[in-house]
Amino acid sequence: MELLEQRIIKDGVVKKGNVLKVDSFLNHQIDIELYSEIGAEFARLYKDCDVTKILTIEASGIGIACVTAQSFNNVPVVFAKKNKTTNISDDVYSSKVVSYTHGREYEIVVSKSYIKPEDRILIIDDFLANGKALEGLIKIINQAGATVVGAGIVIEKGFQPGGENLRKQGVRVESLAIVESMNDETGEIVFRH
Ligand code: 5GP
Repeated sequence: MELLEQRIIKDGVVKKGNVLKVDSFLNHQIDIELYSEIGAEFARLYKDCDVTKILTIEASGIGIACVTAQSFNNVPVVFAKKNKTTNISDDVYSSKVVSYTHGREYEIVVSKSYIKPEDRILIIDDFLANGKALEGLIKIINQAGATVVGAGIVIEKGFQPGGENLRKQGVRVESLAIVESMNDETGEIVFRH
């Protein structure tokens, strides 16, 4: 998506540890016009897939999932919560995820009330790096016996293995910008086309 790539070049900041900061328009301050374009693009890509629900993970996925849902005739959005307690109740589906940005493992949970076997679910997230967040969400959808339609990712870091691994497993992954390489010393960002 040209508009998104231009914005990443203009305002993205490459940090050490292969982290791309896009806080000025995606992850902290939000450019809602760009968000709407992103939502419309995901809706175009998955328009014939009978999506009944969008699943994301707190916190940065929620806003993107909401604008996307509006482009899908307001299908419900469910977000996986990062569990803070050690007790997992019987009422939730759960899965463990290793955080890319913090390096620790945490549990994500979704109430069994909000995913049903007949659901056809589009997963939305801001970044794809090693694919752990997506794998955790897919596990939850599988526990519920629902269908994974695919994943819509705003920025994939193509030099990290998540995208390739998931596509090899047969998951449809659509990323609106794929970073081929980035350099924290020069600030250069190159996209894959
Ligand atoms: P993964 O689970 O694919 O390794 O990492 C994806 C998650 O880590 C995303 O939900 C995102 O929050 C975070 N993440 C991974 N890489 C980056 C990055 O370069 N920049 C930012 N802002 N978040 C990232």
